[in-house]
Amino acid sequence: MDNNPPQVVVVSPAPSRIPPGSCPMCYNTNWSTTFTCCGWCWLFLCFPFGIICCCCLRKKKCSKCGFMVN
Ligand SMILES: [Zn+2]
Repeated sequence: MDNNPPQVVVVSPAPSRIPPGSCPMCYNTNWSTTFTCCGWCWLFLCFPFGIICCCCLRKKKCSKCGFMVN
């Protein structure tokens, strides 16, 4: 009668291979910059100074899946 020791399966967490600066959804590294609605409002209401606010309120958007980074 074999007395097999219990097999210990070490499940190591898979290392995240997401390169820095890439999309967490599709690992795409191409980003497009979009302005928020609030940014556009500032742009039109406070032109030309609203351009600064508009630039501050822009978001990074994945050009592949559309994932937006705040
Ligand atoms: Zn993406």
